[in-house]
Amino acid sequence: MKIIKEGQLPDKQIFRGTCSHCKTQFECERWEGQYENHQRDGDFLRVDCPLCSKSAIAYPARGGSLIGQDQRSGSWIDR
Ligand SMILES: [Zn+2]
Repeated sequence: MKIIKEGQLPDKQIFRGTCSHCKTQFECERWEGQYENHQRDGDFLRVDCPLCSKSAIAYPARGGSLIGQDQRSGSWIDR
């Protein structure tokens, strides 16, 4: 079979967030956290901060992964 246009596996969806405790900015895939979908607030991911291990929230990233790219060219979602 031939793929005409490649989609995205839900588990591979990229999320980005900033830890409210230590201000670490991080990027992760959906499977790494607990996915939640709220009617009012949209979808987000509940994850453990990679630095301080406290609970943090990540939001869907637009424009794909920044891993391996110059992070200054990407915009972090700051909510
Ligand atoms: Zn943290």
